[in-house]
Amino acid sequence: MAIQQQLIQWASAATLVTAVASSANVWAQDAHSYAKLDEVTTPHLELDLTIDFAEKRLTGTATYDLARHGEADSIHLDTRELRIHKTEVWQDGAWQETAFALGEPHETLGQELTVAIGESSDKLRIHYETAPTASGLQWLTPAQTAGKKHPFMFSQSQPIHARSWIPIQDTPALRLTYNAELRTPKGLLAVMSADNSLSDNRDGSYSFTMPQPIPPYLIAIAAGDLEIKSISDNVAVFAESYIVDEAAWEWADTPAMIEATEEMYGPYRWDRYDLLVLPPSFPYGGMENPRLSFITPTVVSGDRSLINLIAHELAHSWSGNLVTNASWRDLWINEGFTSYVENRIMEALFGERRAQMELALGYQDLLVDMSRLAPEDTVLNIDLGTRHPDDVFSNVPYVKGQLFLVYLENKFGREKFDAFLRQYFDDFAFESISTAEFKDYIASNLLAKYPNVVSMDKINEWIHQPGLPADAPQPESDAFAQVEQQMQRWLKGGKLQTAEWTTHEWLHFINNLPLDISSTNMQRLDKDYDLTASKNAEIAHAWLKLAITKKYEPARERLRNYLLTIGRNKLVSPLYRELAKTPENLKWARDVYQQAKPGYHPLTQSVNEALLYPQN
Ligand SMILES: [Zn+2]
Repeated sequence: MAIQQQLIQWASAATLVTAVASSANVWAQDAHSYAKLDEVTTPHLELDLTIDFAEKRLTGTATYDLARHGEADSIHLDTRELRIHKTEVWQDGAWQETAFALGEPHETLGQELTVAIGESSDKLRIHYETAPTASGLQWLTPAQTAGKKHPFMFSQSQPIHARSWIPIQDTPALRLTYNAELRTPKGLLAVMSADNSLSDNRDGSYSFTMPQPIPPYLIAIAAGDLEIKSISDNVAVFAESYIVDEAAWEWADTPAMIEATEEMYGPYRWDRYDLLVLPPSFPYGGMENPRLSFITPTVVSGDRSLINLIAHELAHSWSGNLVTNASWRDLWINEGFTSYVENRIMEALFGERRAQMELALGYQDLLVDMSRLAPEDTVLNIDLGTRHPDDVFSNVPYVKGQLFLVYLENKFGREKFDAFLRQYFDDFAFESISTAEFKDYIASNLLAKYPNVVSMDKINEWIHQPGLPADAPQPESDAFAQVEQQMQRWLKGGKLQTAEWTTHEWLHFINNLPLDISSTNMQRLDKDYDLTASKNAEIAHAWLKLAITKKYEPARERLRNYLLTIGRNKLVSPLYRELAKTPENLKWARDVYQQAKPGYHPLTQSVNEALLYPQN
């Protein structure tokens, strides 16, 4: 134990030597990358790219600094569907062409790119172009945007899609800084997960710097007809004009969220924090691209009820972006910590009642997921093999990970647990860590420090066993208990008192209606509260899902419209899954899907095609 403690102290000194030594442990562990970080790493990238909307293609160069750790005379990079034109190394004061080879395509991993780098060159340049079908990019025609005049493109690199638009050592165990030069058609604004300018100049030529070392999955790009609206000195919204004012109003609490998080977990280390509103086809709720979170427009609800998503993406500035999972098996280290911090931010700003409702809603979602997942996929330190991480996406790393930390907070008390977390963010700042490293760290810095509170066996149960431990927290909410009482009265013909209800209470109400609810009661609810027409994307989702199950036909047209206009996978795939349960609905869903498909992101397409065309 003493030795362990000493090792951790050396690591906190964060000298280059200990950083390399501690990272070496995680370098061999990523089954989702061809990179061999123990031989050579790429600590800095210079991108020079032209964004070609007509051809749906990026063309240009990626130039890397090389840091050698072994004897290797070649480097192994990840690619997917890239066309490599030429590779060069910087040798004797000039660029010299060098040999490269592309491996056989692998369905999950893409293609290994091996480049000869000699024994002493310290720079590598790759000339390449992307495919129109790049899995990490979406290209929208002007007709698919809100403004209808200009095209839009954006990236989603997490987990292993950076390789579809940059030849790269695509493992989160690597950290690199980057600069970029981008060219777009005149009039469009390009942005990146870097130092975005607030200037209005749209001459089609843009430069970026990301001075903090980040994992490759956080390199991000977008371009479109964007406007900028500042919320404070260091927070602004980038969005198409139709929504820029609404989004800036919706997210006005962001600066206060930053302050609250700094108070709890130490400084925000990324300079600005801006928010980019993506088109409705964005497949996720949000993506924590550093300095510029990418956000779905479906959380601009007009009543600030869904801003826990902003708290979530902001929380990643500590958990995920600052301290990063070393491989996708360790995703809970990103998402469990972030879900926990998100809820703490919500509590700090809006009080315990709201935070508790959100925790309870997450817990309900987790139980639903756990009931459909194979037991081995409910393990935090999941064994992915070489399965695509996208195919195993669930609430487990998020909510089970969060409950693990809530459990620890309850056991050790908030004061001690907060101090532990703050130190953890400091000790591993700008590093990538594995589950094994986390276990060593918590053993020394929490369990041994306060003995006989939580055993290592219990930690192992949380991290390595399926399902939830018998003594796991079971979040409940008083507010929801009241909703359930009202529901019982309402089912017997009584009136609902909804004046004080927030989105959370509505979601709990709809999600917990009895499955044998009568069609008369469905109509009564819809008539009194206009649920089919709800402008809140989450409430509409819950209602439409129930409407499918209950064959409530008045909601059919809204359902069609919803599926045609929203591409956020969390909101559409449960609807397709529900529709796929009966032959008539499946036929109808396939028709709608085919119409919606051109507007869906590649990820949304692949997930929902698996639901609607399972024989493929
Ligand atoms: Zn997250």
